[in-house]
Amino acid sequence: MRVLNDALHFLMYPSNRYRLHTIPELQNIIWVLLETPSTSSYQRGTTLKSHARVVIIGGGSLGVNLLYHLTKEGWTDIALIEKGELTSGSTWHAAGLCPSFNGNMTISQIHHYTMELYDKIIPAETGDASTFHRTGSLRIGFTELEEQWFKNLASRAKQIGCAFDFVSKEEAQKINPLMDFSKARIILNTPDDGHVDPTSVVMPLAQLAKKNGAEINRYTQVTDINQLPSGEWEVITDKGTIIAEHVVNAAGCFSREVGAMVGVDVPIINLEHQYLVTEDLPVLSTLDKELPVCRDSYTESYIRQEGKGLLVGPYETFGCKPWALDGMDWSFDRELFEPDVERLMPFLERCMELTPSFAEVGIKTVINGPITHTPDDNPLVGPQAGLRNFWNLCGASIGIAQGGYR
Ligand SMILES: Cc1cc2nc3c(=O)[nH]c(=O)nc-3n(C[C@H](O)[C@H](O)[C@H](O)COP(=O)(O)OP(=O)(O)OC[C@H]3O[C@@H](n4cnc5c(N)ncnc54)[C@H](O)[C@@H]3O)c2cc1C
Repeated sequence: MRVLNDALHFLMYPSNRYRLHTIPELQNIIWVLLETPSTSSYQRGTTLKSHARVVIIGGGSLGVNLLYHLTKEGWTDIALIEKGELTSGSTWHAAGLCPSFNGNMTISQIHHYTMELYDKIIPAETGDASTFHRTGSLRIGFTELEEQWFKNLASRAKQIGCAFDFVSKEEAQKINPLMDFSKARIILNTPDDGHVDPTSVVMPLAQLAKKNGAEINRYTQVTDINQLPSGEWEVITDKGTIIAEHVVNAAGCFSREVGAMVGVDVPIINLEHQYLVTEDLPVLSTLDKELPVCRDSYTESYIRQEGKGLLVGPYETFGCKPWALDGMDWSFDRELFEPDVERLMPFLERCMELTPSFAEVGIKTVINGPITHTPDDNPLVGPQAGLRNFWNLCGASIGIAQGGYR
């Protein structure tokens, strides 16, 4: 397996700027290699069609999800344009967590539907088994304010139909025997939550969209966009020009650059975000089911099981690192940044307090990748003010969980 891994790595990413870190990722790469015929509807840089009703710029979680959902609505004259491989922006390296807990009613509904999409709808349409790990989640609150907040959200969750209940410390201990709940004031259990390998859901959605008539153009970069007197959009790429009635900016970390092509200042910033994967933890082999995803505002982190180790991802409340403030380098594709564990130490130390066995294992891999954020941390979804038929679908910082816009 190691030899195959290295061979594939060399073939696909000779720049050797990152390393594969999981077997599912390797499987996905094999899947991509086998499942990318150079037919006219799944092109690798061949001639574009001249017209389309919709052009979607970006083949990450958001762009591909939209492609699939539009074809389900009967909009099949669509071209998705991706400058690299599908998922090769921020999507391929995401930790894949899909939580029910969200302060915004609309976004909560999107999360709820997305989990159903990944766990039920994709398997039903493809005939393949679900790749969604329905592990459930626990979220710990330590303060009175958090208790009020959790209870407030519980009433909204009920309306949406999310399973959302509170458990005692004893019950929580049974659900996650590794975590120390002694200081918890309130513990929220969302048993329908889980996580998914992002590529394992984006690729089937692309194939389903393609089957429904959509066209996917990989290795094709949009270089400029002009509005014609007719109101249509002229989308210029390095492989030709396509005229479209609607254009969607789903360009992830490049959304500002794509927005600038039509004179729009897209309000997003790119940050570095890291998670680390530990060596195997022997106690995990003794458990009869996978650990839930655990979160709390004390560590500002998510902790879940990855194989027989742990995956820990802190969100820095201080010392975070913006990236590419002066503009993106268009050649950035399927890359990671150098790990910077030192920056995470205050948060990791807190994780060790709450999950003591985390302190006993070594770190196997650190994933440090680009993530977009908006001022209110909600994604930018909808028509661009001042422009006709130009849409935003970008700025997601939980873009795997927020893929399912229908
Ligand atoms: C370390 C890490 C862990 C994460 N974990 C999670 C998680 O657990 N759960 C979760 O929900 N989210 C997570 N995220 C966030 C998630 O990865 C992103 O929100 C999501 O991938 C964004 O998807 P997207 O489609 O908007 O962008 P991308 O996946 O970046 O896709 C945009 C695409 O547009 C293409 N593109 C850009 N410009 C052009 C152009 N001019 N022409 C053609 N193509 C273009 C790019 O090549 C790229 O492929 C994580 C992020 C990081 C960094």
